[in-house]
Amino acid sequence: MKSMYRETHETGIEERAHAPAIPRLLAAWNELHERYGYVPFDPFDPVHLGPDAEDLIVLVPLGDDDYVYVHQGATIRATVGLDMTGRRTSDVRGATGTFFREVYARVLADKKALFTLHRGGPASEVHLWERLLLPCRDSDGSDVIVVYSKVREFRDDLLSAILDASLDGILAVRLRRGAGGRPVDGELIAANRRASQFLGRPIEDLVDCQLLEAFPGVVETGIWDRCIVVAETREAAEFTVSYRQDGVDGWFEAAVAPLGDGFMITFADITARKQAEDAAELQRLEFAAANQALKSEIARRQALETELNRLAAIDPLTGALNRRALTEGLQKALSLAERYAHAISVVLLDLDHFKAINDTFGHAGGDAVLRQVGLTLGHGLREGVDLVGRLGGEEFVVVLPYAGIDEAVAAAERVRAVLADAEILHEGRTIRCAGSFGIASWDGRETLDRLLSRADHALYRAKAAGRNVVLIDDGHWSGLTIETEAGLAPSSDVVAFEPHARRGTRPRRKAPGTQA
Ligand code: GH3
Ligand code: MG
Ligand code: MG
Repeated sequence: MKSMYRETHETGIEERAHAPAIPRLLAAWNELHERYGYVPFDPFDPVHLGPDAEDLIVLVPLGDDDYVYVHQGATIRATVGLDMTGRRTSDVRGATGTFFREVYARVLADKKALFTLHRGGPASEVHLWERLLLPCRDSDGSDVIVVYSKVREFRDDLLSAILDASLDGILAVRLRRGAGGRPVDGELIAANRRASQFLGRPIEDLVDCQLLEAFPGVVETGIWDRCIVVAETREAAEFTVSYRQDGVDGWFEAAVAPLGDGFMITFADITARKQAEDAAELQRLEFAAANQALKSEIARRQALETELNRLAAIDPLTGALNRRALTEGLQKALSLAERYAHAISVVLLDLDHFKAINDTFGHAGGDAVLRQVGLTLGHGLREGVDLVGRLGGEEFVVVLPYAGIDEAVAAAERVRAVLADAEILHEGRTIRCAGSFGIASWDGRETLDRLLSRADHALYRAKAAGRNVVLIDDGHWSGLTIETEAGLAPSSDVVAFEPHARRGTRPRRKAPGTQA
């Protein structure tokens, strides 16, 4: 059996009781008891008692541990929802009935007032009752028990307190069904304070009102349909709803759960949160756009810087690298050659009798030749591997990574031949030119300066050998001097063409100033 909350007290009743009538009735009972040694029923008869009678029960013992209700006050009837008048304590089932019979027997035996507290029984489950039991004697000498019985605490109050403490609006709705059981409206059976604030109506107005009649917006926003689904399927649901009030968009979040033949809906206005989220999202997008703009600006500037660097490295007349860039490039190429132990060669080129070209065709004519040399050198070289630089004036250098002396000679010879055959048109006249070439192959250890000076030495000897020739630094050479349109006579030391100069092969003719 379910246990039941109960207390019984013979002393300290005045302090324990909450109902003001209890000390008053107890004092009256005590006074009579003092005077007569017993208490006559007559002063407690509901007929004489006035308003307190509303909370009074009068019981007459029947013997056999049973009692009949001869009076039950209206307040008690309303609270428990039934009229016990004429019925018996034995009709009260369970622990409550047992408790009642126990305390009634006790007051009859002791002839003392008793104060009790209890909660229990179906009707009493939500109530904590306090009771003052007073044994009396009727005019015929028989026992009568007078019970002042008052609800101390309503669970309903507790429930309302909980509901009103909620930060969410809460509504309980019972469906009103039309023909065929179809839900046609809902009756609001409970609303908390938050809901009343949100809906802008006092709770008293909300309770018992027809939901759709009072709030047609419930249908327009689709909330009603969702709630019906919950009520019919008995499955809870959560959703967000937007609404428009006084021209302003708002949102609330709702949770709906089935409740009886209806539903309970809790909802919270999330407009402020939503607005904050939207503002944050907007700001995020703005940041992203600003970030994108910044990124493209950085990319634009980087491209510009790359282009400026490129331009800073380039000789504008010939498109070749300038001296600084060439030296840097050569230094890097030497480092790579050292690290990966591969060959690398440099070819120096100095145009022959360039002063004469300038003198004959003017400075612009000389520039046209320089441009042509730049084009010729740029052609036929391995892009991204070989480097072409203009060291100044009409002196050029070609860096050939991975090329040993043979490949370098072959490359230089090709250029020499192309230049010697070239006919450069300038202001209606044809300019012919030639160049002398000096080659050095890196020995794997030497500095950049020494490598270049060896190539320069070879070039010097090429000039001395009569120009328009390719010479390697150990004195081997190839090439021919040719006459240019400038009318330059071939030099006196015309040499035979030797296309494949090789280190160690005997020169056909010893160039001046070289060792054997
Ligand atoms: P060699 O065969 O011995 O080299 O005779 P060369 O006349 O070429 O003699 P050198 O190399 O000393 O002459 C270089 C000349 O190149 C001197 C200068 O006037 C000319 N020069 C230098 N820079 C430029 C330039 O940018 N444009 C033109 N048109 N001429 C230049
Ligand atoms: Mg020169
Ligand atoms: Mg020259």
